[in-house]
Amino acid sequence: MATSTRRRLMAGNWKMNKTNADLSAFFEAFCREAGLSKSSAASSSEIEILFAAPFTLLSKTNELAAPFGIHTAAQNIHFEENGAFTGETSTTMLKDVGIHWTLVGHSERRQYFAESDETVAKKITKCLSSGITPIACLGETRAERESGTTESVVERQLLAILNAASTQVEKIVIAYEPVWAIGTGLAATSAQAQDVHRFIRAIVAKKSGEKIASEIRILYGGSANAANIAELLSQPDIDGALVGGASLKPAEFAQMVIKGRR
Ligand code: PEP
Repeated sequence: MATSTRRRLMAGNWKMNKTNADLSAFFEAFCREAGLSKSSAASSSEIEILFAAPFTLLSKTNELAAPFGIHTAAQNIHFEENGAFTGETSTTMLKDVGIHWTLVGHSERRQYFAESDETVAKKITKCLSSGITPIACLGETRAERESGTTESVVERQLLAILNAASTQVEKIVIAYEPVWAIGTGLAATSAQAQDVHRFIRAIVAKKSGEKIASEIRILYGGSANAANIAELLSQPDIDGALVGGASLKPAEFAQMVIKGRR
């Protein structure tokens, strides 16, 4: 399938790291190293850049990042609008602070906070009805890969997401993140990643049609870094990356952006 229409997306996931005091120096270094300037925010049009920040950092991250054409995302939302959900944050609250993107269903949410395909689906539906772009995460565990169930697990997670997105599948971004590769330093090989990305795109084609499948962006996540990103991005169905550890380091993440420019 042609890759030319899909704009690459390099997304950092800071997880539970950084404070507001870190941000000015981070963006100064990152934008300098990546060659981004406020006057040429369009330079980022070759590749979209995003940081998924903790809730306490969203406003300041957005304030510092937006002038460079960089998006800011939350790492999670709740699927209800408001009410007795102590500790949760709604899509309306995100928009209230100028945020229009969020991760949904990251494996750490699934693993440590009991998020299921059902709750992920509700969050996708809520995002789309609220004008928030979800980066929907999925991927198999090591045990699932070793037992040969990668495709069935990925298909189950993906169908929950696609069904929830219904007629708005073209508005979501998918992130394939094999759990065994996240934070381990053991990235999937580009061939392993491409196999699953091709599989995901084929399911999207079957479910939502060839046009949407050829346009939807599928990011790879799992120990992506400046050394392996070019090889990963050389694969026809890999449209960018969701990056944890390496996105905390401005110079390394800037290198990844530079390597992602076509
Ligand atoms: C992630 O948090 O989504 C991730 C891929 O982390 P890392 O790059 O550190 O493996």
